[in-house]
Amino acid sequence: MSWEDNVRKVVPYVAGEQPRKTDIIKLNTNECPYPPAPGVGRMAAQMDYSALRLYPDQNTTILVEALADYYHVKPGQVFVGVGSDDVLSMAFMTFFNGGSPVLFPDVTYSFYDVWAEVHRIPYKTCPLDENWHIRPEDYRQPNGGVIFPNPNAPTGLTESLETVERIIRANRDVVVIVDEAYVDFGGVSALGLLEKYDNLLVVQTFSKSRAMAGMRIGFGIGNEKLIRYLNDVKFSFNSYTMNLPSQLLGAEAVRDEAYFREITGKIIATRERVKGELRKLGFTFPDSRANFIFATHPSIPAKQIFQALREADIYVRHWDKPRISEYLRITIGTDEQMDTLLAFLRDYVARVL
Ligand code: PMP
Repeated sequence: MSWEDNVRKVVPYVAGEQPRKTDIIKLNTNECPYPPAPGVGRMAAQMDYSALRLYPDQNTTILVEALADYYHVKPGQVFVGVGSDDVLSMAFMTFFNGGSPVLFPDVTYSFYDVWAEVHRIPYKTCPLDENWHIRPEDYRQPNGGVIFPNPNAPTGLTESLETVERIIRANRDVVVIVDEAYVDFGGVSALGLLEKYDNLLVVQTFSKSRAMAGMRIGFGIGNEKLIRYLNDVKFSFNSYTMNLPSQLLGAEAVRDEAYFREITGKIIATRERVKGELRKLGFTFPDSRANFIFATHPSIPAKQIFQALREADIYVRHWDKPRISEYLRITIGTDEQMDTLLAFLRDYVARVL
């Protein structure tokens, strides 16, 4: 007998690399290439640092109210966490306690199986179809909950609201979580379904479309009862998860809708232009509505391109996993960054082929 027999052993999630070098083109973790809204900078500059001696507001009122205002819901319908990873992990723990497996796609955000493992929740994956779409009929089997991103990651594909609603309607006896980390880049949100379905939790993040990955802010919106359950679990772990700067700066970001529209619009325009250029080089990809493109080349192995790019200080994401090992996930950066990437690829494809 050893103390190690009593350890909760897990294989942790592996996040994309955060290299120490700064003079690189970083297209590997879907961050926003633009800075946060100007109001965030102004607030950061005028923040009274002596306020840090106090615990932050445990109800994160300022941020919850800003989000409730923006999304036209009641403050009691909003749960905030330290990144949507925190919200999702809490949601797994709170809602997925049946004996049946939780369902999610086989190709999806690779944190879902890790949370299932760490919280000891049985799970089962449902294969995406050959065009990378969710098959709603797969979600009609007995289960202990459902979660999927929309748009999905790493494919970037979005499912219609009809598909999302079909899945929710077939699963009224469990909680269905729609992870909308990338919805602001052209997806369709399930927020409009909240009035009809009390078992729906929509989760979003400030890390992509609000350019604040470094602040770690995520949120979930659902009916008030469901949010109360989430808060009960959260307050049973730690009353003060979100620090004061995150609360103040997050609220500032939500208030500037014009800037939000401007940067998401720019990223969408860049994405569509890059799709055309990648196609000219022979790449194919699902038609992304997210801030990344999931691309494969018919004659050059993905891993080889990944390594060549890395040597040129251009970081993208590659997984050595079934079904997706021939794909690269390329985050949409600024036009200038994407031009450097495309110039490299033009040269590389010409050289290798
Ligand atoms: N959901 C999906 C689908 C994601 O790709 C990510 C980003 N890794 C997250 C959630 C978590 O993002 P964050 O914790 O930064 O909000």
